[in-house]
Amino acid sequence: MTLSSWYRIRTLDDGVSRILEAHVAADWRCNIWHVRGRDRDLIIDTGLGLRPIAKDIMMLAERPVIALCTHSHHDHAGGLCQFKTRLGHAAEADIFANPTREATVAHLLEPRTVKKLPYDGFDVADWCYQPAPLTETVDDGDVIDLGDRVFQVLHFPGHSPGSIALWEAATGVIFTGDTLYDGTLYDHLYHSVPEQLCESLRRLRQMPVSRVHAGHFSSFGRDRMQTVIDEYLDGKRSMLCPGQMGGD
Ligand SMILES: [Zn+2]
Repeated sequence: MTLSSWYRIRTLDDGVSRILEAHVAADWRCNIWHVRGRDRDLIIDTGLGLRPIAKDIMMLAERPVIALCTHSHHDHAGGLCQFKTRLGHAAEADIFANPTREATVAHLLEPRTVKKLPYDGFDVADWCYQPAPLTETVDDGDVIDLGDRVFQVLHFPGHSPGSIALWEAATGVIFTGDTLYDGTLYDHLYHSVPEQLCESLRRLRQMPVSRVHAGHFSSFGRDRMQTVIDEYLDGKRSMLCPGQMGGD
């Protein structure tokens, strides 16, 4: 077994790269997004973080990096502790700083979800990510400036109380975390509020989005975004509707 390629990176056509954890199940791993900026780079979500990301993705070791987590769940915030600058929403600051398996929903992990041993002693049955206290909290309307690309924070509670998205008005690109992806939406976790998720998705539906880079699975355009939102608002795509999952 080689661990030299725990992470795989693919650059998309809008200057955005998608990093995946190669040995985490495709229906479980999140998308780790990398945006290269003139003055600094942005990482949106950090995966389970079972191996050092900057070892595989060398440019992360060479450039100033802001890491932002769309929320504190284990599949998004596991690698956050590896970064010096750590942003997230205040509503989940306590979870980032004092993660537990229950609060990060890591207790839902199954043996099948991690396909190779990342390090000696790893056990999916008791793993939890390392504390990653936020160095700065962000809220709706805050701006993250990479020098030549500017992103606005949107607070989209529902999936979790501190779920956020990042919106680039100049291009219409949005990073939605687990608020929206093309799959079954997890709306009944312990701190989910489905009514809030509906409200957040109605707000998102009105936006002049050109491209959705979601928390899981493939990216998609505005028409697909509206279809997926409409299907959710029609009562489909909830985690309470069995038999649905996303594609990759
Ligand atoms: Zn989540």
